[in-house]
Amino acid sequence: MEPKIESLHKQKLCLNCGKQLKKGQYKFCCCSCSVTYNNKNRKHSATTKEKIRNSVLKYQKAHPERYKKSIKIEQLNHDRRKICPTCGKEFIAKKLSTIYCSPKCVHNSLEYREKIRQKQLARVKQGIHSG
Ligand SMILES: [Zn+2]
Ligand SMILES: [Zn+2]
Repeated sequence: MEPKIESLHKQKLCLNCGKQLKKGQYKFCCCSCSVTYNNKNRKHSATTKEKIRNSVLKYQKAHPERYKKSIKIEQLNHDRRKICPTCGKEFIAKKLSTIYCSPKCVHNSLEYREKIRQKQLARVKQGIHSG
């Protein structure tokens, strides 16, 4: 029975340098080995982070349609970006036919004022003719 137990003990090796561990030692033969091993692990995790980032970028390139949605919305917003002729403010139109940034600006617009003036002129003319 004894040699079997010894062989089991032999299987426990320092994770850093590969030395046989003494009784009571779990992973490392000494403190410095555990420190260097953990430092290695830290470096390793940094490279895996980069690998993950690279794979994400690769995925984005391979499946651009999955990221198109947000780009489309941006493009639409860009297309509908207009400058209000009344106040000169840049705004995003809800409809492509929208010209002014707000109903206030529609009322203040020269076009609208012109329409009202022409209506008033027409009324005056009618008044003169009828009178
Ligand atoms: Zn060691
Ligand atoms: Zn405006």
